[in-house]
Amino acid sequence: MAVTTPLFADHTRSFATNRYVYPVISRRSRGLSVGVNLNPDKVCNFDCVYCCVDRRTPGDRRPVDLAVLAQELDDLLGAVADGSFWTQPPFDRTPEPLRRFNDIAFSGDGEPTTCPEFPAAAALVAARRAAHGLESAKTVVITNATVLDRAPVAAAIDRFRPEDEVWGKLDAGTEGYYQQVDRSKTPLAKVLANLLATGRRRDLTIQSLFMTLHGEPPTEAELDAWADRLSDLRRDGARIRLVQVYTTARATTEAYVGALPRAALDRIADRVRRLGVTAEVYAADG
Ligand code: SF4
Repeated sequence: MAVTTPLFADHTRSFATNRYVYPVISRRSRGLSVGVNLNPDKVCNFDCVYCCVDRRTPGDRRPVDLAVLAQELDDLLGAVADGSFWTQPPFDRTPEPLRRFNDIAFSGDGEPTTCPEFPAAAALVAARRAAHGLESAKTVVITNATVLDRAPVAAAIDRFRPEDEVWGKLDAGTEGYYQQVDRSKTPLAKVLANLLATGRRRDLTIQSLFMTLHGEPPTEAELDAWADRLSDLRRDGARIRLVQVYTTARATTEAYVGALPRAALDRIADRVRRLGVTAEVYAADG
């Protein structure tokens, strides 16, 4: 699920032994994003052909331990709050404009909202952030939207502040292409219904990954259908603040997946802009 292209990621002496919490400096977040991985078990109800999680080795199947999560958050947020974070290698090499704390993102090796501890973890993040005086950093949940209709998940998101963000995945406009790329038992219609219901209650960011399959880009008909689904969501009342158009930048589950060039991503983003929605492009080559 993690889709950021890091300048520096979590391979530090201080944080490498963490189970859940990892720091990433990325251009996309324009600073420090503290990742919370609720899925060391690598469990996901999607099986995306482009997923970069290596599931050839087993995950950690233990239930999420909220006490460990709290301790890891306190260690990292404490270092951010007192400034010592920026003196530790490799983060001491962070360019000046990126030396800011942007967000705490639920993003990891699976779908965070299917984790039974997600609501408690979201509350914990808000509490520990406040305890360290870091309220200016927002919460972000990066989700495939399949279970946003579950009452505890919806309630947890409804407790988010207005500045916190939900990034929902929408990779396809038809059930056929969705099953080709996301491979899920949950139908696309349910993903769309959940995006609509959530987007009626708060601003949504849509994340859409496009790729080549066996060297072929998505068809014009599929891209038209995807743009139509975005248009339908808006027409029916979803507040879409941004669509992120991106491609694969790392090793993928299936070898027949390839990155789309920037020019193709730009043309896809132009379809979004023609709907009157802001679009950003993240190409594999930066
Ligand atoms: S939603 Fe897709 S990309 Fe994200 S963790 Fe699941 S299988 Fe991987």
